[in-house]
Amino acid sequence: MTISSAKRDAFAFLDRNAQALATLSDSIFYFGELGLQEYETSALMRSHLEEAGFRVQAGLSGFETAFLATCGDGGPTIALHTEYDANPENSQRSGACARAEITPGAPGHCEGHNVNGAVLVAAAVAIKKAMDARGLKGVLKVFGAPAEEQILSRPYFVRDGHFDDVDVAFHNHIAGEFKAIHGVTHVALISAIFRFHGESVHASTAPWRGRDALDAVMMMDAGMAQHREHMRPEMRAHRVVLEGGHQPNVIPARASLWWYFRDPTADGVRALFEKAKRVAEGAALMTNTELEVETLSAVWPVRANETLAHVLQANIEEIGMPAWTQEEQALARSLQEAAKTQATGLLDAPTPLRGPSPQRSPSNDCGDISWKVPMGRLSFPATAPHLPFHHWSAGAPLATSIAHKGALVGAKALAGAVIDLLETPALIEEARRSFAREIGDVRYAPLLPAGQTPPAAMNREAMERFRAPMRAHYVKERTPFA
Ligand SMILES: [Zn+2]
Repeated sequence: MTISSAKRDAFAFLDRNAQALATLSDSIFYFGELGLQEYETSALMRSHLEEAGFRVQAGLSGFETAFLATCGDGGPTIALHTEYDANPENSQRSGACARAEITPGAPGHCEGHNVNGAVLVAAAVAIKKAMDARGLKGVLKVFGAPAEEQILSRPYFVRDGHFDDVDVAFHNHIAGEFKAIHGVTHVALISAIFRFHGESVHASTAPWRGRDALDAVMMMDAGMAQHREHMRPEMRAHRVVLEGGHQPNVIPARASLWWYFRDPTADGVRALFEKAKRVAEGAALMTNTELEVETLSAVWPVRANETLAHVLQANIEEIGMPAWTQEEQALARSLQEAAKTQATGLLDAPTPLRGPSPQRSPSNDCGDISWKVPMGRLSFPATAPHLPFHHWSAGAPLATSIAHKGALVGAKALAGAVIDLLETPALIEEARRSFAREIGDVRYAPLLPAGQTPPAAMNREAMERFRAPMRAHYVKERTPFA
């Protein structure tokens, strides 16, 4: 494969800016912000894109920590999108081979969405520089997507029309491998809160006058437990209790459950949600309470397009794996041993492109995008294989040279694939044709209710509790992309 001069420009830019990429990734790691509270993260990412000349809109579809950065004109419209949120209780010291919190009890990154965000920005800036220098026609739309861990933001972006003018899209995600995939990889999900409203009264002196919302929660749970017998093995229904009353001598007037429902198809998850609502109505009827259902999010399964997988894979193979040092291999093996998984160390070659990937049980909020337009999915090697996400061991590599080197090759692969499409628009036509074959007669329509607004207060209190002590660990320097 011959490398075009635009692509050479982009790769050279990224090599020159390896430190800026690493500093950005580490900065997001230490921000460790929960979904919808990614204020520091979003502001820092936006500032780099603004400096590079993008038109940047802060906030999108009612998400304050989302953003849309645009550049270019004419030609095809290509979207890049990724997440940058952390998880509760995931504060973990970088490079430590045992559980060691940075800030006790605080949220943190133990999957690598910090690296996802940094790769997105670095690739976008590199593409723009190459477009400007080589006069490439096209529009780049860069989406910052909050709260992936709550499967939240991207279905709102699609519902609100932000992908109507997009030709193809790319999602980049950290992995232990360097690879592209195609096929339907994740399942559809509906996230909803079921609130029951009753009437409080003294639980000992006049319980017959009360209407117990906690009873309704328990009856719904019992009903769903019975319903599970009749679900297909690939379906899921799981929940937590959000409110269950305050003290035993007051009959709870409010009680609520937060459910995730999952199914391989959008139609299947919609049907499961309808059944759950019937169960909840039954619980309300039995307990003489009122039911209120709030859909927080509803996403389609993720699918990855085959044409775009080939474009990504060609770049991945051209770029190759980072050259790992003995120290990096030793750290990876220690973490794999500590996590009681295969101690294979870091991979020394990209993973070949295989046939369609099996559909597995997780979900990602980018599913809707992947049914709206052909979407490529890049996995880049910025962590050790087999480390279980959200476990402390998967947090330990995320601000080390393993993450930095993996981020660099990931940004190159993403930039390279986009430049290929800008230089050879026939590839976009091919992606469109293969996408039409892949989705067949399925017609995309949002699962998300038309008037639904984001749950803006989510995670606010939890984040505010930890922000001050976490701030002491923030990365002090800011390295500009130049
Ligand atoms: Zn993720």
